[in-house]
Amino acid sequence: MKLFSSHKRKDILNQLEKNSLDVLVIGGGITGAGISLDAATRGLKTGLIEMQDFAAGTSSRSTKLVHGGLRYLQQFEVKMVADVGRERAIVYENGPHVTTPEWMLLPFHKGSTLGPMTSNIGLRVYDFLAGVKKNERRIMFKPEEVLEREPLIKSKDLRGGGYYVEYKTDDARLTMEVMKKAVEHGVHAVNYTKAVEFIYDDSNKTVGIIAEDQITGETYKIYAKKIINAGGPWVDEVREMDGSKQGKSLHLTKGVHLVFSKKAFPLQQAIYFDTPDGRMIFAIPRDGKTYVGTTDTTYEGDIAHPLLTEDDRDYLLKAIDYMFPTLNISADDVESSWAGLRPLIAEEDASSPSEISRKDEIFISDSGLISMAGGKLTGYRKMAEQAVDLVINQLKDEEGILYSKSETKHLPISGGDVGGSVGFEKFREQKTEEGILFGLSKETSEKLIKRYGSNVNRVFKIYQDRKSNAIQENIDPIDFAELNYAIDYEMAYKPVDFFIRRTGALFFNRDWVVTHHQNVTNYLGKVFKWNTEQKDRYTAELEQLLKEAITPVK
Ligand SMILES: Cc1cc2nc3c(=O)[nH]c(=O)nc-3n(C[C@H](O)[C@H](O)[C@H](O)COP(=O)(O)OP(=O)(O)OC[C@H]3O[C@@H](n4cnc5c(N)ncnc54)[C@H](O)[C@@H]3O)c2cc1C
Repeated sequence: MKLFSSHKRKDILNQLEKNSLDVLVIGGGITGAGISLDAATRGLKTGLIEMQDFAAGTSSRSTKLVHGGLRYLQQFEVKMVADVGRERAIVYENGPHVTTPEWMLLPFHKGSTLGPMTSNIGLRVYDFLAGVKKNERRIMFKPEEVLEREPLIKSKDLRGGGYYVEYKTDDARLTMEVMKKAVEHGVHAVNYTKAVEFIYDDSNKTVGIIAEDQITGETYKIYAKKIINAGGPWVDEVREMDGSKQGKSLHLTKGVHLVFSKKAFPLQQAIYFDTPDGRMIFAIPRDGKTYVGTTDTTYEGDIAHPLLTEDDRDYLLKAIDYMFPTLNISADDVESSWAGLRPLIAEEDASSPSEISRKDEIFISDSGLISMAGGKLTGYRKMAEQAVDLVINQLKDEEGILYSKSETKHLPISGGDVGGSVGFEKFREQKTEEGILFGLSKETSEKLIKRYGSNVNRVFKIYQDRKSNAIQENIDPIDFAELNYAIDYEMAYKPVDFFIRRTGALFFNRDWVVTHHQNVTNYLGKVFKWNTEQKDRYTAELEQLLKEAITPVK
């Protein structure tokens, strides 16, 4: 059943309006997706609306790591590192197709932020706090071992390195898989639908919202016993709409990443390294590219549209030059980029954006609105558990419902029915063989299996059944299969949804987007019956983002 299809938008909106919900979540980033999944699995009738595309906010703009935040140990955020660190393994087990262990090398030089002693102790504490498996515990390297693993690292004053495991993910796809699982459990979820006004009862408690379909302009009244604001960087805007932005507020900081070709930056090994100004950033090989980030600067501009500036770019280039001096990297080597906003909770005594805690917090407004802010992608499941615990406790007091515990710890996300991390290897072998039988190359089969996990059968089937259709549309049959899967099972609607959130191609395969976007847009236009103005607008939107990814503003 295609429960999460863009063809069903109207039906889903009608369902949201018709059903009186227990919980309505505002925001379809990882926080909202996680909350809706937790709520639905505890039997709560749940809805979710997202004003852009799912994950179009911060949840497609992170460093794309499921990590415990080793750096935060320096700020003595022990509890947060322990909680988030432990979540890594859970996220991995429940979705091994979208999360991959990645050994990270932490080089230290004379005068580094973290020296050999601190790194050794820090990594040992990290292993302990995060409950790391024996075969994944940290190893300490001598300088020559560091250079063996990554010859591009600055050899001058190199004192050694720490080697430890983090996990690489695709943040937007992780969000999508959580969202899809939530929908499987009965959540009515829809993108391009904005909460524009709250509805109150006589005692000024929120009982619903007015939602506006951003595509048709139609409005809907959606009622729910509890409303959760998971608006990420927009949390304060949503609170303002409720007239309840009091007490703590957000401090948004911008983080930028740059993407390079393997030719310009032939990195073999993921590195977590010092910057000249005493911060730490990542350089990570991925999909035949290398990406580097991030910056951390206070942000006050348009929340929906943070941009790469020349200063951001130059800061990262300088940092690369500092740690990889033989590369001679330049601005011309930047192939793509992205910028995201951290929805941090403001702290008066933080001396710089990097000093602000990443911990999450829940605010409860007088109107009853529950807002969840801060946190990390990695900790989404635990954050969701906390938010839904609160709701369940409130409903227990107000309506006498039975208390129930979160069930997501051992619940595979969509695509994750592969037998956990151990089973995934076998699954991958089996499905690769099937893909080859369908006429796909080994490489393509593996790429699709990593991207879709146990849902790959559906993509294979579309590929098999609709080859001639694809050729008519001038689209490669594999791309066509992914595109139709995205439309029918992941609610993709616009070209940007497909090229950014469903495939990550605008970041890691920009040339492919440039070559193919017109045919994809033509097809989407035909499927959704767009008029010329719509088609031009959505084309322009994608072209603008393609341009911005390589053209920083002053
Ligand atoms: C540069 C950077 C690097 C990071 N790296 C990592 C990392 O490697 N690992 C990690 O664990 N974490 C990382 N993080 C943190 C992580 O990305 C965020 O904590 C997480 O993505 C926040 O998710 P969210 O759902 O709260 O917010 P968002 O993803 O922004 O979702 C909020 C959603 O609410 C929607 N919304 C807002 N208002 C309304 C409304 N009125 N109606 C309907 N919808 C609305 C928005 O459109 C948006 O999609 C990073 C963050 C940044 C910025």
